[in-house]
Amino acid sequence: MNIPFLSFTGMHAPIKGEILAAFESFFDSNSYILGDNVKNFESAYAEFNTTEFAIGVSNGLDALRISLEVLGIGKGDEVIVPSNTYIASVLAISQVGATPIFVEPNEETFNIDVSKIEDVISGKTKCIMPVHLFGQACEMNSLVEVAERYNLSIVEDNAQAHGASFNGKLTGSFGHINATSFYPGKNLGALGDAGAITTNDDNLAIKARSLRNYGSQKKYYNDFIGFNMRLDECQAAFLLIKLKHVREWTLRRQQIAALYNQLLSGIEQVSLPTTNRGATHVYHLYVIQAKARNELQEYLATKGIGTLIHYPIPPPLQLAYKSLNYKIGDFPIAEKLANTSLSLPIWPGMELVQVDYIADSIREFFNQPSGKK
Ligand SMILES: *Cc1c(COP(=O)(O)O)cnc(C)c1O
Repeated sequence: MNIPFLSFTGMHAPIKGEILAAFESFFDSNSYILGDNVKNFESAYAEFNTTEFAIGVSNGLDALRISLEVLGIGKGDEVIVPSNTYIASVLAISQVGATPIFVEPNEETFNIDVSKIEDVISGKTKCIMPVHLFGQACEMNSLVEVAERYNLSIVEDNAQAHGASFNGKLTGSFGHINATSFYPGKNLGALGDAGAITTNDDNLAIKARSLRNYGSQKKYYNDFIGFNMRLDECQAAFLLIKLKHVREWTLRRQQIAALYNQLLSGIEQVSLPTTNRGATHVYHLYVIQAKARNELQEYLATKGIGTLIHYPIPPPLQLAYKSLNYKIGDFPIAEKLANTSLSLPIWPGMELVQVDYIADSIREFFNQPSGKK
């Protein structure tokens, strides 16, 4: 069997005709920047995310950057972010001139350990950036409570968790202003780069809308030193089609994860992802922790199974951040996760026999009998 880490075929084949028709209609529209597709996608995504506003932008990193920018966060300010996130969360903080302050994750959920946030709050702290990593909602009630107590803003990084919720409320709707990505491999992915900002605050929405478009609300009148970070009209047309399927694709991801959980249970050398009380998990990634992770990954490759490591180096230890002077051992939990994590294939359209084969291969590696009942 040959199982890639990710395949789009199961999602894209059934909607190919619709996508091509949307492209043709975009082509014929003669309207290629901030047209009806962007407008329609913004209202559809705001409705999906239960926020008042959604603002389409160029990608997830730019969505994070604009979000911090509209809150006035900049030089001299500190932003709290998990030590095991994807690098883009941290890059956005650096791009506005602020300093990332890293908080270790909870070892079970991989999400920021809210009980450790207060320890790092200083007079310079302006904002907390929770990241709903791998598709599981962070513990938002306690996080919001800490933010309110210290009068801090919240910018959610919702790039991996479209449709996830905590205590029934959707991720991307808790923070003052929130960012998401529609990078192709995300749960809702464009056919290229794309992202969005979500908020319920009309002033922040107006400013974000202006900043993505040269700091202008009215053509050739510029209120801010803005960017060109617009959502592409053509990607918006594709996203409108794909958005209709996200709920069904999420159910499929959850079904695959449940099967993995069943077939991989009881292997002493492997720990499986868990879902926190109150949280839902939309399984952007299915990440296990394994002993002899590198050898397991190589073994699976010989069996034709594609896997990835999310992520091999925690952001504070990346070369790009050497000026922060962190060293190995400063983030023991993030480092342990980086050394033991392995992401298994999961995508809508994946066959259950493929999950079976992957689980059997992992059991074989650890000399464990098949988990099938
Ligand atoms: C993908 C991702 C981003 C960045 O999104 P891009 O669209 O690739 O710029 C930011 N944060 C997290 C957690 C991500 O997974």
